[in-house]
Amino acid sequence: METNKPKKAAVPRTPMPCQPPEERRHNFKEVALGYTREMAMTEAGRCMQCKKPLCVSGCPVEVPIRDFIREIQAGNLDAAYRIIKTTNSLPAVCGRVCPQERQCESKCILGKKGEAVAIGRLERFVADSYIASTACEQVTGTNACAMPAGGRKVACIGSGPSSLTCAGVCATAGIKVDVFEALHEPGGVLIYGIPAFRLPKGVVATEVNGLRQTGVDFHLNHVGGRTVDVAELAREYDAVFIGVGAGLPIFLGVPGENLVGVLSANEYLTRVNLGRAYDFPNYDTPAAPGKRVTVFGAGNVAMDAARTALRMGADEVHVVYRRTRAEMPARVEEVEHAEEEGVQFDILSAPLHFNGDENLRLKSVTLQKMQLGEPDASGRRRPLPIPGSEYEMATDLAIVALGTRSNPILLQATPELKLNKRGYIEINEETGETSMPGVFAGGDIVTGSATVILAMGAGRRAGQTMVKRILG
Ligand SMILES: Cc1cc2nc3c(=O)[nH]c(=O)nc-3n(C[C@H](O)[C@H](O)[C@H](O)COP(=O)(O)OP(=O)(O)OC[C@H]3O[C@@H](n4cnc5c(N)ncnc54)[C@H](O)[C@@H]3O)c2cc1C
Repeated sequence: METNKPKKAAVPRTPMPCQPPEERRHNFKEVALGYTREMAMTEAGRCMQCKKPLCVSGCPVEVPIRDFIREIQAGNLDAAYRIIKTTNSLPAVCGRVCPQERQCESKCILGKKGEAVAIGRLERFVADSYIASTACEQVTGTNACAMPAGGRKVACIGSGPSSLTCAGVCATAGIKVDVFEALHEPGGVLIYGIPAFRLPKGVVATEVNGLRQTGVDFHLNHVGGRTVDVAELAREYDAVFIGVGAGLPIFLGVPGENLVGVLSANEYLTRVNLGRAYDFPNYDTPAAPGKRVTVFGAGNVAMDAARTALRMGADEVHVVYRRTRAEMPARVEEVEHAEEEGVQFDILSAPLHFNGDENLRLKSVTLQKMQLGEPDASGRRRPLPIPGSEYEMATDLAIVALGTRSNPILLQATPELKLNKRGYIEINEETGETSMPGVFAGGDIVTGSATVILAMGAGRRAGQTMVKRILG
């Protein structure tokens, strides 16, 4: 009997329309433009509707992928959206930033013989269609849920994807939620880290507004461990969730790193994104514009910083990385997009020291060539310096993107919280509860810097336990 399997595998994946590189390197508009309805129908048609959909097991929040794609195939976009929302509270965000090639799409059976179904792009299409169709309702508030009853309430500290998800779970169950966020805008890394050309600010604002309509209150400029105390919140609220991320930058530790013109990627991206420096002259935020920019590191954050620097007017942007392209932790798509836009990659190079002028302004960096030796503890081949290979590169802005660790403010002020050896909050994996009864935690502050979807999964798990405990 003839099956349709080979046919589907032979149909190529529908490409994502993008802004041309030469245009987009000068603007902050979204790079990936999204599928049209026709494209989405074509791509959804490639899904084989497997009896046992392996893709679901690759998704940290187990979105019923086969089922939502079936609804797209039938043209029922509202139904597709409702299915996604059963497990994913931020589909428009995840459709844009999840590393699907390492998650759901890596399990797609079509990928064995050809290209996997573009699950992330379909998720984005469904979410964007829903947002467009409900824009009026959201403005007028006609889809607002009933206000919480019963006087039960929870507090979430931080407003990144982990807290937003936890807040959503609790609010949907009818529990009042207060979110306390240190910054002046909610959204966490989605707002202050990931640039608008990958994740438009309006997408995050829509999700946050959706939560507001379910009765979640955001208290901005409130710092857990300073202006609000975890133990006090635990007494006042039925449960507390801590989702403060891991935003403390790691530096290179080489001489000259305190020169004017050397910044962490976090600071640079926060000034540009949260401070709206990209919207000059409407926002006159100092953003350290560089003409010859050097970015250290090769993860997604490094790619975001390099591509942001191009858009802020740099003539030349170099990503300096001590290993090779094969070891780069960034998503392949991000590296390709950066390269298309003109970012140059200086691989097998490591900084020795930064050099400044008489006003202590950065003017160059001294680098050394490296070669790869045996694998180290991370499993990647260890970079070894090549003696006598030092060279100097002119640069007026250096951005350090080596990763982050836990911020100590809340942790030091709350000694009751048990931490692990790496300085992150220890939790019961099943419930999300910390060593403080009634206080839960999740996201980067538990795992270290990870992904949006993992943070959401943790927020969901903790939220479900909180609801069960409170409502029985
Ligand atoms: C530049 C960049 C790009 C990234 N790109 C991707 C990507 O493409 N795909 C992906 O999956 N992941 C990406 N990540 C990782 C992802 O964004 C994080 O894993 C995720 O946001 C973690 O969510 P969270 O809720 O734990 O914390 P966060 O998003 O970090 O949010 C924590 C929030 O808590 C607030 N806060 C901190 N301390 C306090 C306090 N004491 N009191 C009150 N509030 C506090 C912070 O201001 C922040 O708003 C990226 C990260 C960065 C930095």
